[in-house]
Amino acid sequence: MKVLVTGGAGYVGSHTTKLLEQAGHEAWVFDSLVTGHRQAVTPGRLIEGHLGDRAEIQAALQEHQIEAVFHFAAFALVGESVAQPDLYYQNNVVCTLNLLEAMRASNVNRIIFSSTTATYGEPDTIPITEDVRQEPINPYGFTKLVIERALEDYARAYGFGYAALRYFNAAGASPSGEIGEDHDPESHLIPIVLQVALGQREQISIFGDDYATPDGTCIRDYVHVDDLGRAHLKALDRLETGEGMRLNLGTGRGNSVREIIEACRRVTGHSIPEVIGSRRPGDPSELIADASLANRVLDWQPEYTDIEGIVETAWNWHRHHPRGYASRA
Ligand code: UDP
Repeated sequence: MKVLVTGGAGYVGSHTTKLLEQAGHEAWVFDSLVTGHRQAVTPGRLIEGHLGDRAEIQAALQEHQIEAVFHFAAFALVGESVAQPDLYYQNNVVCTLNLLEAMRASNVNRIIFSSTTATYGEPDTIPITEDVRQEPINPYGFTKLVIERALEDYARAYGFGYAALRYFNAAGASPSGEIGEDHDPESHLIPIVLQVALGQREQISIFGDDYATPDGTCIRDYVHVDDLGRAHLKALDRLETGEGMRLNLGTGRGNSVREIIEACRRVTGHSIPEVIGSRRPGDPSELIADASLANRVLDWQPEYTDIEGIVETAWNWHRHHPRGYASRA
């Protein structure tokens, strides 16, 4: 199929685009390069554009006879969304509504949307199933929930077929070593810990060790970025117009911040000094997926099932690209 990938120069978007290409699809990346990387995109396949500009999106959809959209482009930092909600409402809500209207005007009605565990807020039951009430506790999660609702309404009224894939914590890098995670500034746990191993930072600060978890640190479900990508391809095969899928994507297994640091020590062989810092606002204590619905509906399950295997792929990327994509310049 011919697929437009918004945010295809970013982390999850670029990995999924490579998998689309390997599977024989024609993928066109639509990216503003505000946070994405030109080097992450196959040459000749980048459309530099902004989702605020409906005419630009329509031109891309029509020129390349696009049949489906993978929508990754978004801001995705919880803390930043608390401090600057305007950015999140504009970029994640207004721009996405613009995209949906451009699709409608171009008769494209299939979309796979990057949703998030942050739409659940602080759920009472772990592991989290899709029918847990979605009560986001930060603007980031709320902007993603707004779009889930919009997609439901567009499916009913305009016959859109959609999948809202609720990612848990994306981690790791392509085993090819060609693409990986590169944020500036970096705020995610695994890349930061690996930067300590590389000697680029002195220590890792653990954001709170007084949570009600066995070792006091937050627990997350880290899922390999290529496993997320594979779920998108399976969802594409199963999209039905007028219907939606809302699916958790995680491994069903949680790791604490301390366990992640330990795994990074084992994989890298470096000691990785740590300090205890204060809690980060907006952080729920524990998020673990029940991904059995994705397993049933998509016949999907993660190929990476242990944290060390995930960290090994991340370490392979970071030690060969200590300055991210700039290492290749
Ligand atoms: N974390 C931490 N120190 C850091 C960065 C993250 O202790 O320097 C913790 C954070 O509080 C959370 C977990 O690591 O519990 C994962 O955070 P990340 O930002 O990677 O992903 P998020 O869960 O926010 O999507």
